[in-house]
Amino acid sequence: MVGIPVFMYHKVSPNRGRKAEKLRVTPKKFDWQMRYLFANGYRTISTAQLVDFCQGKGSLPKRRIIISFDDGYEDNFTQAFPILKKYGFRAIIFLVTDYIGSDSCWDEKGPEQLLNWAEIEEMSQAGMEFGSHSHTHRLLPSLPKEEIRLEVERSKSVLESKLGEPIEFFSYPWGKLNEEVKEIVEGCGYRGAFSTLPGKNRMGEDSFALRRILIRGYDTTFHFLLNLKLGRSRI
Ligand SMILES: [Zn+2]
Repeated sequence: MVGIPVFMYHKVSPNRGRKAEKLRVTPKKFDWQMRYLFANGYRTISTAQLVDFCQGKGSLPKRRIIISFDDGYEDNFTQAFPILKKYGFRAIIFLVTDYIGSDSCWDEKGPEQLLNWAEIEEMSQAGMEFGSHSHTHRLLPSLPKEEIRLEVERSKSVLESKLGEPIEFFSYPWGKLNEEVKEIVEGCGYRGAFSTLPGKNRMGEDSFALRRILIRGYDTTFHFLLNLKLGRSRI
């Protein structure tokens, strides 16, 4: 299937229990996946290049991909970042600004350590991209308009003032959006936003509902290859 795949990860760390978790990919598996992509000629692009492509501004060579992380877990720095660097890959990490340097409050199985500013700055200087995943990770479509605006606007300004560069991409908490949320994100000056709609991104794709492919901790190699080729893990 044609189009640009955007892989969505969350945690990259060893499993805490015996069972693999949906949103936690082990470092060993993540390394295998990045090595596979690299060895098969895949190269990472920026989110700006993806949106330009979707808007018909220039074509892209084949085998281009985006690696994205939601929530900003600390293991993105300790585990995923060294692996990405090994293959010369970049990635975009979507941060929840009010929780930077503390623990998540949205994980079903209890809090998890999130990235701090020193780690974010080090990755930013090394070419990693950052985007907003809202200020407090609430379900945006359920909020009054003014609160949606605060979630979207505040996270952008906090990141811009700390990192000293424009923050142009957003990822919807829980992947949930509606027309109102989309309009507010666009109105706050973002260039695009990522949903959890599966599939690859093609020319003409809605820049404020970009597609992503969830890479799950218990996916087999077969699932991974289906995701890469078809943009979904089922035939
Ligand atoms: Zn999230």
